[in-house]
Amino acid sequence: MRQPIGVTVDMARYVLAQRLRGRRRFPLVLMLEPTELCNLTCTGCGKIRQSEEVLRRRLSVDECLKAVDECGAPAVSIAGGEPLTHPEIFEIVEGILARRKLTLLCTNGLLVGRALPRLRPDPRFSLVFHLDGPREHHDRMVERRGVFETVMRGIREAKARGFRVTTNTTLYKGADPEAIGQLLRELNAMGVDNCIVSPAFTYEEVGANREIFLRRKEAIELFRRVAKAAGPKVRYYNTPIYLDFLMGKRTLRCTPWGNPTRDPLGWKGPCYLLTDRHYPSFAEMMEKTQWEEFGYGENPRCASCMMHSGYEASAVSAMSLVDTWRMVRWLFAS
Ligand code: SF4
Repeated sequence: MRQPIGVTVDMARYVLAQRLRGRRRFPLVLMLEPTELCNLTCTGCGKIRQSEEVLRRRLSVDECLKAVDECGAPAVSIAGGEPLTHPEIFEIVEGILARRKLTLLCTNGLLVGRALPRLRPDPRFSLVFHLDGPREHHDRMVERRGVFETVMRGIREAKARGFRVTTNTTLYKGADPEAIGQLLRELNAMGVDNCIVSPAFTYEEVGANREIFLRRKEAIELFRRVAKAAGPKVRYYNTPIYLDFLMGKRTLRCTPWGNPTRDPLGWKGPCYLLTDRHYPSFAEMMEKTQWEEFGYGENPRCASCMMHSGYEASAVSAMSLVDTWRMVRWLFAS
């Protein structure tokens, strides 16, 4: 099963409640960034190249939990920066789990060895390891040798301790689709519960390195080849509808409100990737963001974006009866 049955039931109940209330726009996954500080400087990361102010500040446990309550999304992805550098990360995770949210803790893996004894396995909790490809490729993208090995060691140890483990692979220009497909198969064989794959976002902040980013057509071509090389047995965490979108088989309209972002400066608009302004409350961000100005074909900054943070929630909004059946099969697939 893709995720514990209780999580699926809670999600379905939440979506139904939103629909019955007639809400057109509602959050599914809160992107919570307690800190933007990181112990790596990955080539394609725009987050670590933000203003000094956002890098200097961090959210307290209370601020994090207030954001979770304010937003109300059934899932929380704790991202950053590297969340494990936050001194109160364990209290933050516990507080979110106490609210029965599906909780994803994203990590580059460097501090996992030290963190595992202070975390506890829970059906609603997953560690999400950043892993862009095989050894040489991953270490080049994170600009440090040996990180791939550390991540693989962390995955093995986390599985041995009974944690749910997901990997998150970002696709860049020049990636070898066969090698990435092979890695996804290996991760499957190691018992990784789910794999996320997504093309990188073209962060303006990375400056001269922007040639590493894929245009839409290139991203579709690369993902098709990765999926072919990976074969049919890989357990993707991406929904089948989003995977169709990545393969160029269907179009989706971006739904950035599906993954709202709370970072140390406030509620970030318009989306997880673009920073135009921060709002003091979730309600104000939802009300004041001019949603119709964003998405493919609406805004030049969105032209190459196919990120899950913009389009996974679109899959839920765009579901037909056939899609619903496919989603049910995907959720219950082993
Ligand atoms: S397409 Fe959506 S998620 Fe992507 S940059 Fe634009 S608004 Fe953000």
